[in-house]
Amino acid sequence: MSYKPFPELTKADESKVSELLSQWSLANGLVMYPPNFKTYSAAIAPTTLFPTPFPRSAFQNAVDVQQSFNELYTNLVANHKEWLIEVITQLSQHDVGFTGKLFEAYNKAVEESPNKELVQPLSLGVFRNDFMIDNQEASSTPGIKQIEFNTVSVSFGALSTKVGQLHNYLNKFGVYGKNYYSNDELPISTSIDELADSLAEADSHYKKQQSVDDSIILFIVQPNERNCFDQRHIEYSLINNHSIKSVRLTLEEIESQVEVRNSDQKLFIKATSEEVSVVYFRSGYGPSDYDLNPELTWNARVILEKSAAIKCPSLLTQLSGSKKIQQILTKKEIVKKILPSITEEDLSKLLSTFVAIYPLDDTEEGKLAKKLAFEHPERFVLKPQREGGGNNIYKANIPGFLKSIDEKEWDAYILMELINPPTHKNKLIRNDEIYNEDIVSELGIFGTILFDEQKGGIISNKNAGFLLRSKFSSSDEGGVAAGFGCVDNVYLY
Ligand code: ADP
Ligand code: MG
Ligand code: MG
Repeated sequence: MSYKPFPELTKADESKVSELLSQWSLANGLVMYPPNFKTYSAAIAPTTLFPTPFPRSAFQNAVDVQQSFNELYTNLVANHKEWLIEVITQLSQHDVGFTGKLFEAYNKAVEESPNKELVQPLSLGVFRNDFMIDNQEASSTPGIKQIEFNTVSVSFGALSTKVGQLHNYLNKFGVYGKNYYSNDELPISTSIDELADSLAEADSHYKKQQSVDDSIILFIVQPNERNCFDQRHIEYSLINNHSIKSVRLTLEEIESQVEVRNSDQKLFIKATSEEVSVVYFRSGYGPSDYDLNPELTWNARVILEKSAAIKCPSLLTQLSGSKKIQQILTKKEIVKKILPSITEEDLSKLLSTFVAIYPLDDTEEGKLAKKLAFEHPERFVLKPQREGGGNNIYKANIPGFLKSIDEKEWDAYILMELINPPTHKNKLIRNDEIYNEDIVSELGIFGTILFDEQKGGIISNKNAGFLLRSKFSSSDEGGVAAGFGCVDNVYLY
């Protein structure tokens, strides 16, 4: 399959487009705060000038497997809790500082709950499954391979919709050439509204369950969040489409600003007595969210977990997204056990997205992996149990890194085959500079699922749009907020 080349622009055209793009972004909220910001002044988010070619069949495959993946993770949490807890217990011993702390918070919350059972059985998953196209399969249709499955604080659902609208605007305006892309080639992610819809649906179940008419959604955010507009768009959708208000608090603020009623563990905002139906975490996924004030922040996590509000995600759901679980889930027998009624077709679609991931333990597989890590490090990335980018060890750095730590600690890492995505010469715009470099892209598919974490049972399971992020192919990682990457949109061919 072939695709159209990127539109050609003269230098003069380029600066005109750059102005159109910047002003559209500022006018429509495709923005972030710059470092050391003042509240009143945002900057355009780094984006590509053009959408990046992406094979339609691969895109469709990623969309098609999302609901199976949603179910895989929630069935693991709800129906195989003991086994999940066993794995997490092991992992906690190796990663005391973070996985261990999350698990400790979970145990404390259970311990302190009536009859040692958390009072809210319902749980909301807002997930993002990340993929890259693997070039090694160029012989047939290029396949998608999973990078990771995120179960907490997934971001860019809102800026994704915005960048899709931006590229469509530039296309319709004619700056790429007259009708350069058809509508069908330039989809717009519906993620802003669909992520908000999932929160609203959880809110509505809470209202029915608790027989209340009024409730709000609590966003747990980082102090001085530069990516807050990505969250605000979801809040605006909640209020515009569902008349649901949201309140933003940091983990540090929880103890002083919320109140939990003794009789039924209902959660209220102290100052206003507003009742919280859903706690939506956009913070709390990494050690730095706790380190400045560990006592206050970890206690906040326990308070919220024990409360009657529906958590997005619950601590166990967050823990199910650890890289170790991802490694274990690449095994066919295990997937089949967790999804007993999956069709053969859906199962093979799901399994086809995996590359090899190895444990670094004392099993036969682990021993092989230890050998591979030293003999062929160029084929691998080493991942710790962390989220949010910037934590992995790549290729030639792997042997030295492993030697620098005690072999007993290796089990806290997974060894993953590198995916080799195709490169494209798109243009990146960051502030007022245009970069013309080879980029690679990562496709994220959003999925939402409302389920009963105690009895099992899925209330609703949905796709919720997509995200394309691109980065210079010369950099190993592509965090947009971290400054390595940008938001992009697919041109489906
Ligand atoms: P995090 O949870 O910190 O985002 P990821 O697993 O997504 O961790 O890794 C971060 C980045 O590293 C990805 O966005 C991708 O750019 C790169 N990466 C991760 N795994 C692979 C892989 N198997 N092949 C190629 N690049 C990878
Ligand atoms: Mg992640
Ligand atoms: Mg990632």
